[in-house]
Amino acid sequence: IGYLLLSFTGGVERTLVAVKPDGVQRRYVGQIIQRFEKRGFKLVGLKMLQASDGLLSQHYRELVKKPFYPNLVDYMTSGPVVAMVWEGLNVVQSSRRMVGPTNPAEAPAGTVRGDLSLHVSRNVVHASDSVEGAEREIKLWFEGKELLNWECYDHSLTYKED
Ligand code: UDP
Repeated sequence: IGYLLLSFTGGVERTLVAVKPDGVQRRYVGQIIQRFEKRGFKLVGLKMLQASDGLLSQHYRELVKKPFYPNLVDYMTSGPVVAMVWEGLNVVQSSRRMVGPTNPAEAPAGTVRGDLSLHVSRNVVHASDSVEGAEREIKLWFEGKELLNWECYDHSLTYKED
């Protein structure tokens, strides 16, 4: 019941997190997943894929005119990406905070980018920046049937339901 209540109040969200090709090459997939698991979020979708130019032009549709866009596409298509959908209370904003600012030079220690990366063009991970953005991106990267609704048994420990 509490879970349903949270869903109706808009507290439980989903977000897209993706380990970019440099993160996969550097074997950071496990530790990035672990950070989200430890925080208490629920994994509802996970896959490894080679991103296409078409997918990226939709995903980064606000950036296609930027001078760095061709390099961004080269980077994002340089190897596999591990795409995930995480669910939980306030997960969109929390994941942005866990990931850190776009430019790793500005990312505090303790964030994924602040701990694992140096340069804006090789910043290891993606996380959606708004609830609406997350919905759009999840639809781009995942088919509905690839997302699982399942009950996480520690829910009563990570959520105060009143
Ligand atoms: N990016 C870049 N140079 C820039 C700005 C962005 O290479 O000057 C890349 C970087 O990989 C970043 C991605 O483009 O993560 C998307 O940029 P956005 O501003 O959406 O940042 P994000 O949401 O990833 O923090």
